[in-house]
Amino acid sequence: MLENLSERLQGIFSGLRGKGRLTEDDINQAMREIRMALLEADVNFKVVKTFIANTKERCLDAEVLESLTPAQNVIKIVLDELTELLGRTDSKLVLGSRIPNVIMLVGLQGSGKTTAAAKLAYRLLQENHQPLLVACDVYRPAAADQLETLGDEIGVRVYRGEGKDPVKIATEGIQDAIDSLRDVVIIDTAGRLHVDEEMMAEAENIKRAVKPDQILMVVDAMTGQDVVNVAAAFAERVDFDGVIMSKMDGDARGGGALSIKQVTGKPIKFISSGEKPDSLEEFHPDRMAKRILG
Ligand code: GDP
Repeated sequence: MLENLSERLQGIFSGLRGKGRLTEDDINQAMREIRMALLEADVNFKVVKTFIANTKERCLDAEVLESLTPAQNVIKIVLDELTELLGRTDSKLVLGSRIPNVIMLVGLQGSGKTTAAAKLAYRLLQENHQPLLVACDVYRPAAADQLETLGDEIGVRVYRGEGKDPVKIATEGIQDAIDSLRDVVIIDTAGRLHVDEEMMAEAENIKRAVKPDQILMVVDAMTGQDVVNVAAAFAERVDFDGVIMSKMDGDARGGGALSIKQVTGKPIKFISSGEKPDSLEEFHPDRMAKRILG
């Protein structure tokens, strides 16, 4: 993911390095090229606009242009602005003191929610927590089966409940966690293929009933431009605290992943890249920016 963008940016930078001194025209040209590279990687156009405006203003500073290593300075500025775009500081998952702590996952169907729920449980298990997974997708029995299989694989208890009322299952799941001495509950909710009223209302109802300590939205990094619209819709209706960006191992353009913090104001907390239980990493904006710039 993002390899093409990375290659493009490296090409632009090596062009700048080859020039020695840089003129205002060189900077303008480089900014045009960076702008194109970001747009072609599917980064949201408003995000690109702000990014380029900020970067350009800093690069055109006389001190930058007249320094002995102007290209190096330009690269440093781009790196810094990219880190800013990605959220600047790490946003770790902090569990509250309430036991059990409740984490609710929301997102579209197919975004990778169930997989992420299991990965998060696995991660918590490694950190000496005793998680419980709750299957609240009452529309697709396969989703609960999938969660159960994943739970078995990693040795984490899964509560499925009975009936078709996700609010009831979520509430019972929390009681089950209390009874079975689990300290973190991860609620996997139902998604739809597109944002719809019923899904939002259901997520709101579960939220109201269980008062989660945090809500994480699972976002498929391969969705492209539409990612930000979906996330904005969830932010408005359900509100959430952070994002798990799934499928970062895919070969799509990935710009949606780069846009989400700026568009929704919500930080990326984890990136998920693969189907193995241990493929959920904490997200570090600075490391990601460095990786993109190569
Ligand atoms: P849900 O409908 O949101 O619960 O999505 P699932 O967890 O069922 O995931 C949908 C599909 O994406 C499944 O085939 C998963 O195996 C796959 N998937 C989930 N996360 C990742 C990931 O990080 N990388 C890859 N390559 N595939 C993933």
